[in-house]
Amino acid sequence: MLHKLLKRFGVLKMTIAVTIASILISIILTTVLTILLSGGIATSSMIIATVVPTLIAPPFAYITLRLTYQLDLAEERLRQLAITDELTQAYNRRYFIEIATKVLAGTKRYGDSFAIIIFDIDDFKRINDTYGHAAGDQVLRMISEICTTHIRDSDIFARYGGEEFVILVQRCSPTDIVKFAERIRITLSQARVLYNQVEIQFTVSMGAGIFDSQTPDLDTILTRADAALYAAKKQGKNCTVLM
Ligand code: GH3
Ligand code: MG
Ligand code: MG
Repeated sequence: MLHKLLKRFGVLKMTIAVTIASILISIILTTVLTILLSGGIATSSMIIATVVPTLIAPPFAYITLRLTYQLDLAEERLRQLAITDELTQAYNRRYFIEIATKVLAGTKRYGDSFAIIIFDIDDFKRINDTYGHAAGDQVLRMISEICTTHIRDSDIFARYGGEEFVILVQRCSPTDIVKFAERIRITLSQARVLYNQVEIQFTVSMGAGIFDSQTPDLDTILTRADAALYAAKKQGKNCTVLM
């Protein structure tokens, strides 16, 4: 509750709110106590009840709230780091598995279907050897940028390993998934990475698998998508295979 309010209103507004609340509580308590103890309200008591929280509450509230806010930010940053791949800023494999496991559970419960696309850069070793490792890194970053802008909010894109990426697509037919994979594959093949005034072109091979409530577990799904990727490489690369 406090964390949500802090995020919404900020430390300063919350400090003012806490100060006003402290003054009100102080006045109410003082009024009740003075009536109980002496039968009437003394002006001096009211002045003290107002001045004391006005002086004390702001610095204490500010320090405490700012600390809480900074802790929240640090926690959020840590969470982001734990689920993000540093080089490409895509989600990492661990987070992908976490999300895919949840999606699979939902799929089984509601009878939905979803697809996983695993893709791998073709001859990436040659790109590294020809243009250098930093240029290869640039290619990985561009792939991440392009994929992130092409997926829907409900899809999950992640870096699965060195030069392998994965996309989880929810609720799609076999025709849709092939169309979607092909659209991304073609977009990637048309992209150019500019590195030291040299334009680098690259292609990817894609393996896709549609899964429904009958599919037993995530490992089976991933193995199937991986087999499809292997088949795409065998077919001459720069293509999509659906299994
Ligand atoms: P294929 O078409 O069969 O996939 O061939 P390939 O050359 O892409 O595959 P291979 O497995 O032989 O090489 C993968 C290369 O990817 C080797 C490795 O150095 C490179 N790689 C893995 N991670 C990174 C990275 O973070 N940055 C860069 N620049 N290269 C990476
Ligand atoms: Mg590979
Ligand atoms: Mg490769």
